[in-house]
Amino acid sequence: MKNKINPIKTSSESEENLINWNEIKNSAFKYLGKDIYESWIKNIELTKEYNHYVILTAPTRFVRDWIVSRYVDKILDLIQKQKQTIQRIEFEIKLQKSSISNSNEAGLSNFQQNYKKGNVASIEDSLLNYNRLDTKLNFENFVTGTSNQLAFMAAQKICEKNSSYNPLFIYGGVGMGKTHLLNAIGLKMSENLKIMYISAERFMYHFINSIKKNEMVKFKDFFRKTDVFIIDDIQFIRGKEAMQEEFFHTFNALVDRQSTIVISSDRAPSNLDRIQSRITSRLSGGLVVEIEPSDFDLRLEIIKKKHESTKQQFLDTKDLSEEVLKLLAAESQASIRDVIGALNRIQAFSRIYNKSPNVTESKIILKDIISVNARNLSIENIQKTVASYFTISLNEMLSPRRSRSLVRPRQIAMYLAKKLTTKSLPDIGRQFNNRDHTTVIHAVKTIENLIINDQSFKKSVEDLKGKFGQKE
Ligand code: ADP
Ligand code: MG
Repeated sequence: MKNKINPIKTSSESEENLINWNEIKNSAFKYLGKDIYESWIKNIELTKEYNHYVILTAPTRFVRDWIVSRYVDKILDLIQKQKQTIQRIEFEIKLQKSSISNSNEAGLSNFQQNYKKGNVASIEDSLLNYNRLDTKLNFENFVTGTSNQLAFMAAQKICEKNSSYNPLFIYGGVGMGKTHLLNAIGLKMSENLKIMYISAERFMYHFINSIKKNEMVKFKDFFRKTDVFIIDDIQFIRGKEAMQEEFFHTFNALVDRQSTIVISSDRAPSNLDRIQSRITSRLSGGLVVEIEPSDFDLRLEIIKKKHESTKQQFLDTKDLSEEVLKLLAAESQASIRDVIGALNRIQAFSRIYNKSPNVTESKIILKDIISVNARNLSIENIQKTVASYFTISLNEMLSPRRSRSLVRPRQIAMYLAKKLTTKSLPDIGRQFNNRDHTTVIHAVKTIENLIINDQSFKKSVEDLKGKFGQKE
């Protein structure tokens, strides 16, 4: 595991301290807000710094796990601003007396104020800590647009009594709002039902732990006695056979007792390779809805709403001009998480410098975000954009049909996937309905030739590149 605790080294590798930890904590306060800071960051201390890594001390394992799963990238970012050579963070646990003798760990009381307990099922030890819903991720503050309307409606519908489709399967790319919707469903349903909300990764972690501790009976019992079972990021079980076996049984037991099941995934059931087909067919047996990549209008609305709520929370946050808001919506990619991250940056700037940045300044502030986003482009995103540019359907784009009107767009999509992502040729081929990598090579060569020889063709490809924030 990434977050293994390494013993502190006393070797001469340690050099003079360069990091001002208090300053980092102050920035963390600004970036993450008071609640998160007070609950999680305040009690973290810098214990040692080396050339390439630092050791931080967390009061409990739980706090460490939480920080590692949510904030560690941000903290690393802040550290790197002061000392660029740092590449990773390791944690040491400094157990406090009270947390050794009882499992109610420090930090948890704060946590409980923010997180709802309600009817959420509880189990001893650590599992308790993960089966919680974030009250901030609810239906009320989920902004809808054409890309997520259907998923939103389906999510609301499943909360009604006698909802006819089960399971509900929501899929979409990273940062599109899947976890937010799952959480909202959990919150709503926990008003009068017993719910279980867990990520597939956590589910697996407990599965393995239960085997080790010989507690499989308890495990089975726990997961099968819930009215609502919500599992996030199911793609995690790809290739993990024993896990799939267990999941399949859990799933069937839940169906038998007519529990509601909600699943999220980063891809459609049919694209969940390395998962047994009996499982994928069960997963798609209810309602399958996609959250599509966000469009400009949705991003703009989310940015506006978020900015308003930040202004209420931090009174020193400056107004932002419509142009800057639009720049944010235009330059960030489809992931809402990235959109919010970009906005946070602009807001932090406005607070630190006590002025609201203009468009030019905003571009400078967002420079690296914009280029990072371009690298994170997904092949599916490219396929969709190219398909809609040539007004063909995604199915046609992926189909085996070889008519010219389909072959060119397909080749362009392959070409762009090669040029704009870091995916390998076999990977790209696989995502084009399992085509061979030699087909991709051929496509790239063909398009490169056409670009040289045909000006209007070149223009189309450039147009498309522009849509992904790439300019020649
Ligand atoms: P995913 O699980 O698909 O990767 P998340 O649900 O974690 O994405 O969403 C990333 C961030 O964007 C979260 O902070 C979430 O609250 C926010 N978000 C996503 N979609 C919306 C939306 N439609 N309205 C408001 N906030 C959203
Ligand atoms: Mg998620």
